[in-house]
Amino acid sequence: MAAFTETRPHAVVVPLPVQGHINPHLKLAKLLHARGFHITFVNSEYNHRRLTLSRGPDWATAGLDGFRFETIPDGLPPPSDENITQDVPALCASTRATCLAPFRDLMARLSRAADVPPVTCIVSDAAMGFTVDEDFGVPVLLFFAPSACGCWSYFHFGELVRRGYTPLKDESFLTNGYLDTPIDWIVGLENIRLRDLPSLIRTTDPDDVMLNIMVRRAAHDAPHAAGIILNTFDDLEGPVLFAIRSKFPNLYAVGPVSSIAATAFTSISGNLWKEDTECIKWLDDQADGSVLYVNFGSITVVTAEQLLEFAWGLARSGYPFLWVVRPDMVRGEAAVLPAEFAAEVEGRGLLVGWCNQEEVLAHPATAVFLSHCGWNSTLESISEGVPMICWPFFADQQTNCRYLCTKWGMGTEISSNARKGEVEGCIREVMTGDKGREMRKRALEWKERASKAIGPGGSSSVNLERLVADLIRGR
Ligand code: UDP
Repeated sequence: MAAFTETRPHAVVVPLPVQGHINPHLKLAKLLHARGFHITFVNSEYNHRRLTLSRGPDWATAGLDGFRFETIPDGLPPPSDENITQDVPALCASTRATCLAPFRDLMARLSRAADVPPVTCIVSDAAMGFTVDEDFGVPVLLFFAPSACGCWSYFHFGELVRRGYTPLKDESFLTNGYLDTPIDWIVGLENIRLRDLPSLIRTTDPDDVMLNIMVRRAAHDAPHAAGIILNTFDDLEGPVLFAIRSKFPNLYAVGPVSSIAATAFTSISGNLWKEDTECIKWLDDQADGSVLYVNFGSITVVTAEQLLEFAWGLARSGYPFLWVVRPDMVRGEAAVLPAEFAAEVEGRGLLVGWCNQEEVLAHPATAVFLSHCGWNSTLESISEGVPMICWPFFADQQTNCRYLCTKWGMGTEISSNARKGEVEGCIREVMTGDKGREMRKRALEWKERASKAIGPGGSSSVNLERLVADLIRGR
């Protein structure tokens, strides 16, 4: 077989196969591709099938020069319904336990392939750390999908255990005021209480699967990587990035890895659900700055009661709203809202199953984002200067919410068991109150600062070019 003569660097990109990890990896892959890299993007077989269902049969091959998709099994039995929210703990456990062997086979296949350049580096999700378990003869960079403040909290899990903060002795510690304990000794974190640390840390179960993989394994794997990539920027999380650099000098803060910056191959999108396109037309008909956008991301499930409280809070607030309700968003049943609600909000509220969130946030009609504060959603809102009403659920969402509300000044928190009255009051305050005006001003400042970070000479651009140079040099 003739050796491949092209000298392009070749990055194999390996995300944890869930939406909130696929998106930033895909954007980073596009950025690397735009800088001359051949890309092999590794999907799970299951997600690849879903992408084909949502994007059409040719999505992975149409007109793509030097951007290929490969698949490996995620080790789980295929679910009965292909349009379902994934079981993330099961997926984390399964990928960690089973993916190394198929990944090894893939690397061997790529090394023999006649039509791709030799692999020169691996950019691996930190949650797919099996990539550092073996020496593949090329540098492995670990990309952490959470915020820097979330990651830095994870890196302190061992110390939090040693100092006796966690695991919590029993469930009563979740409600007895213990979580208000200030955590003022983690260098780089500011104004943080135990309740603001990622939920995986505030656990009563020291053997929790997600804790083992996202926290313990990631902390164990990070020193074995050639470097760490974070989707954030210096201006946003400076003190914590400074602290992380003291432990991991080879840190690249390259965010927000915006899809606007990565314009190559707009046909490639990692959306596992089929996007509703009518909602953009609906937004076109709304007045500028008039719409509340509500979306709790790709994994969050709520109770039927929470869904109803939110629905009536939205209805009573009186503002136009676009609400993304995934069909499987309610625990144990179909997400269906009562006919009285539909009648009440007719002509003013639009419910869809999935949207192109970045397009919605960039739309002039969008005023405020009511969000679960997933890190991608947070960065996308920052990038578009949209203030946030925060309803965090798990992982780093609580930490992101704390920073949004107390440090970045563009968020306000709604309580986890919010009733319709609280939802309504909070929406009114942010849509038209003084607090909302101040939050909007701060959000627009952050938009400007994010744009500077990824613009020419900005910190994230400089870091990205350094990452590219180091990957090409094979560091
Ligand atoms: N997303 C989207 N449309 C939707 C819901 C989510 O495009 O209707 C995207 C969103 O833009 C983000 C990702 O899915 O990039 C969700 O990631 P995030 O970290 O915010 O939350 P997660 O889903 O991981 O909880």
